Amino acid sequence: MPGTLYIVATPIGNLEDITLRALRVLKEADLIAAEDTRHSRKLLTHFGISRPLTSYFDHNKDLKGEFILERLQQGQNVALVTDAGTPCISDPGYQLVRDAVAAGIAVVPIPGACAAITALSASGLATDYFSFAGFLPNRQGKRRERLQSLAGERALLIFYESPKRVLATLRDMLETLGDRQVVVARELTKLYEEFLRGRLSALIEQAEQREIRGEVAILVTPAEQPELPDTPAMEELLSRYLASGELSLKDAVKRVTSETGLAKSAVYAEALRQKG
Ligand code: SAM
Repeated sequence: MPGTLYIVATPIGNLEDITLRALRVLKEADLIAAEDTRHSRKLLTHFGISRPLTSYFDHNKDLKGEFILERLQQGQNVALVTDAGTPCISDPGYQLVRDAVAAGIAVVPIPGACAAITALSASGLATDYFSFAGFLPNRQGKRRERLQSLAGERALLIFYESPKRVLATLRDMLETLGDRQVVVARELTKLYEEFLRGRLSALIEQAEQREIRGEVAILVTPAEQPELPDTPAMEELLSRYLASGELSLKDAVKRVTSETGLAKSAVYAEALRQKG
């Protein structure tokens, strides 16, 4: 019988955010695959867990993926963790999950912290329709291109960003998306947790005066929908149709009644008035 691959979420700052289930699964795993074994060993030691560790990160994922799949095929249970939060979310793991699924190996998620959802939950922004856009490209040209491509998106946009690029990214957002409402969620679950809320222009001003440090997620409200032009008033519609000379009075009344939803008698009375 093959083993099970567990995708285990770990805290994004506050160690109390580990779940009881995550601790049990990690304690019972035959092997823990970690993005950075030194980093994860500290977490495991904190919780008194001592299990064999192996590395699994972006640059060794092909080779290590095969090794981990072999272990799973041999019946071992493997837990995948990353440095913080949920594996596969802007973190390594997706290829391993894909290959495990293809090989008929059971994949079990152990849910927990995720910076995007944590930021969203306390942002105060409408949460019914959002789009996770992950990291923007580092290079400004590409970054602006990506932002342009998202400009018409009707969903709330959630980005991850390195503190080094926050200010540049906010500026590019202002240029490409306009002066939208944003929330910068900083150092979530940590001592200096902070939510900066406001228009892009205001947050840029703040960031110019005071460096935004630590880890951040940026939430950007959707494009404001252009106001629909008012439906022309019944009187105006009627006068347009009557003046065109293409419709009889009766047909003009019929069309305006159906376009405005008004009572036919009211439209007819107005038509008679206009005809004198
Ligand atoms: N897999 C992780 C998750 O589930 O959120 C994300 C990993 S990604 C490599 C790291 C990025 O997530 C950071 O650059 C930052 O944008 C965001 N992030 C992680 N921890 C955070 C925190 N405590 N506060 C704000 N953002 C955080």
